[in-house]
Amino acid sequence: MSDADVIVIGGGLVGASIAWGLAGEGARTLLLDEGDGALRASRGNFGLVWVQGKGLGCPEYARWSLRSADLWGDFAAELHEATGIDVGHERPGGVMLNLSGAEERENIKTLAQIRLEAGNQPYDYEMLDRRQMAELLPGIGPDVVSASYSPYDGHANPLYLLRALHAGFAAKGGRYRPGEKVEAIEAGTGATTVRTGTASYAAPRVVISAGLGTTALAAMVGVDAPIVPLHGQILVTERTAPRLALPTNLVRQTREGVMMLGYTVDDFGFDTRTRADRSRNVALGALRAFPCLRDLRVVRSWAALRIMTADGFPIYEQSEDHPGIFIATCHSGVTLAAVHARDVSRWVLGHDMPATFRRFSTRRFDVQETV
Ligand SMILES: Cc1cc2nc3c(=O)[nH]c(=O)nc-3n(C[C@H](O)[C@H](O)[C@H](O)COP(=O)(O)OP(=O)(O)OC[C@H]3O[C@@H](n4cnc5c(N)ncnc54)[C@H](O)[C@@H]3O)c2cc1C
Repeated sequence: MSDADVIVIGGGLVGASIAWGLAGEGARTLLLDEGDGALRASRGNFGLVWVQGKGLGCPEYARWSLRSADLWGDFAAELHEATGIDVGHERPGGVMLNLSGAEERENIKTLAQIRLEAGNQPYDYEMLDRRQMAELLPGIGPDVVSASYSPYDGHANPLYLLRALHAGFAAKGGRYRPGEKVEAIEAGTGATTVRTGTASYAAPRVVISAGLGTTALAAMVGVDAPIVPLHGQILVTERTAPRLALPTNLVRQTREGVMMLGYTVDDFGFDTRTRADRSRNVALGALRAFPCLRDLRVVRSWAALRIMTADGFPIYEQSEDHPGIFIATCHSGVTLAAVHARDVSRWVLGHDMPATFRRFSTRRFDVQETV
């Protein structure tokens, strides 16, 4: 006897987006989450809905990110209608700032190559000189050599997004069980049993979308899904009047008025502590970009762990040995929330697999090892 049509393991942005999509399709969905002690990238990210610079060497990922960014407006509107929560989505375009000649060269090369790989698919961007930057971003500092602008980019409030996904899921009849760490997954004929410390649940379909917990859970069903944690640190200032009309890779102003400052990337294993030297670097980078922020006080800082595959691209896979068990994990779970809600949930329910998904199978890691 099944407890649900689908069990989703992991209530972060990836699992909650898929669960919201599943509930919207009318599937009886059970969402299990480990709870407050777990590592949760969804509560510590920067909130960009970002296409620019993504998908070098993988045009499928560039297209996937763009598709999600295109769907984001309707996705946010649907969430608003279902829950009353405005997730603060805006799409004014986004700017990547180059603080040195080396960064500029790298940025130009990357974007040109992604555009080349896009072939006849759209991939628009524009390099901005100092004058154009100053027009778009008044207050930009003299250290910014140049910048790239992409019309596809935007941002949202990731905490409101997580809240809205959970509220919307519940409103559509989804059942959420926090504090239920999955300890075993047993594939059976017609249904898979998922065991937590206190209960067991069965369903014909199971989605493993447990962030950094995915590797251990995927191994239980014979899938090798290698993921590493990458530390990122963010600073937040007090509120100020609107100064920044569009998000950049280093600084963005939220609708509430605070400035979010990023970013760092480090391998510190599973250590989520903030580091004073990283805070200093983030603040210095932000001030080089926008010296006018000097008068603002920093009121909060935190670190969180990115969920990173070896090539930075997502994993979407249905177990070959146990059809009905799916794995979905990625970096950029804010950006990809809209496609997770729509395309991934439909794939889980048996709709055709989007053509791009073959590229996102874990088999690509085996290939890399053998070349
Ligand atoms: C510093 C930083 C900045 C970022 N900036 C951006 C950005 O600007 N734009 C963007 O698109 N993305 C960004 N990201 C990435 C984004 O935050 C993640 O891709 C996204 O949050 C991943 O969501 P998730 O649900 O996979 O993982 P998580 O949020 O980590 O959630 C995983 C969930 O699985 C649960 N879980 C784990 N193991 C088990 C188990 N055994 N049983 C039950 N439940 C389990 C946990 O309780 C947890 O709630 C950033 C990340 C970081 C760290």
